[in-house]
Amino acid sequence: MEALAVRETPEMPDNVEITDITAMARTDAAFDGHERVVRAVDPAAGLHAIVAIHDRTLGPAIGGCRMWPYESEDEALTDALRLSRGMTYKSALGNVPFGGGKAAILGDPRTGKSEALFRAFGRAVEALGGRYITGEDVGVSVDDMNRAAEETRHILGTGARGGDPSPWTARGVLAGIEAAVKHRLGRDSLAGTTVAVQGAGSVGYKLCGRLAGRGAKLAVSDISPDAAKRAAASFGAVTVAPEAIYDVEADVFAPCALGAAIDDDTVGRLRCAVVAGSANNQLREARHGEALRARNVLYAPDYAINAGGMIALTLHLHPDGFSPERARSRTAAIGGTLAEIFERADREGTSPGAIADRIGRERLADPARGSW
Ligand code: NAD
Repeated sequence: MEALAVRETPEMPDNVEITDITAMARTDAAFDGHERVVRAVDPAAGLHAIVAIHDRTLGPAIGGCRMWPYESEDEALTDALRLSRGMTYKSALGNVPFGGGKAAILGDPRTGKSEALFRAFGRAVEALGGRYITGEDVGVSVDDMNRAAEETRHILGTGARGGDPSPWTARGVLAGIEAAVKHRLGRDSLAGTTVAVQGAGSVGYKLCGRLAGRGAKLAVSDISPDAAKRAAASFGAVTVAPEAIYDVEADVFAPCALGAAIDDDTVGRLRCAVVAGSANNQLREARHGEALRARNVLYAPDYAINAGGMIALTLHLHPDGFSPERARSRTAAIGGTLAEIFERADREGTSPGAIADRIGRERLADPARGSW
């Protein structure tokens, strides 16, 4: 394993000012006992970022770096707190010895990027001494991470370390859909199963390919007509207008676009037996998980089913080095984790989301989980 030792008194970089704002973050509704929250600022480089470290019980805090035109620092802080907490649970459910963290850079990814900015961000990550390991997220590319990697060792998703995680995410989602279809519909094969995929981007398109390879029948929507047409041309999918995807009669609805696909309106419109896809934060509110259960729709908790990319990237830090075989078996294991969640939810008469949270907490309480 590469050196990820924590330096207790990390040297501050010359030109990035790092301020501990943990005390300030405590007043934010999304604060959940976070270990440490910092602001990293380098005016000359145009950097203004928040890094939130939620929990390191199982290992260094891992989580991507998001760049977004936040309206205020408070908004970025709330996002970083919420997302870093989610990463703690994603790592625990994914069975990797890491904790949860996240970085939010304030800025417009279309106009605000520069080499100086990402190098300054890399110096900020380095100054945290290995407590936090970064990677790409919304608004940030592999090229951006390559620039940050000039300044920090604590980084994944660079060209040399994993690159684009979406192929692995799609693999994990496929394993999750197979587990859900077996549990809810009693089928061992996806042949003939109908899947409505919302969003044919990096993950959605690759998922469509894997589903088609298993003989599933696809309906696809995307706000980019070209993206939907590409999936139709490649995999024989039927294209559907974005708003109409919720009304498609299908065995599975796979949200692979943005968050909050399941809300008060859509939950009543769905005509599927399973909701299982890659998007983060699929439920607008936690209560929508109960609403799905009340309608006998099986929901695969998002942070459990979409962990494949994160799992594969962390394997670049495995003591024996990255191996595609291990990445394949670890992402396939997402199916087993979901089967356990579904069975326990049935036994305990509650929603899969509640059980996923419970399993996450149990794993955090078991120190043996903190190693490969
Ligand atoms: P992406 O930006 O490549 O693709 C998203 C697609 O959704 C785009 O084609 C976009 O046009 C489309 N879209 C947006 N709003 C839509 C709507 N209302 N209806 C239909 N289509 C819409 O993103 P991605 O990397 O494929 O990620 C998809 C989702 O999965 C995101 O929620 C992301 O956070 C999550 N996720 C991705 C990964 C990964 O490895 N990329 C890992 C975990 C979670």
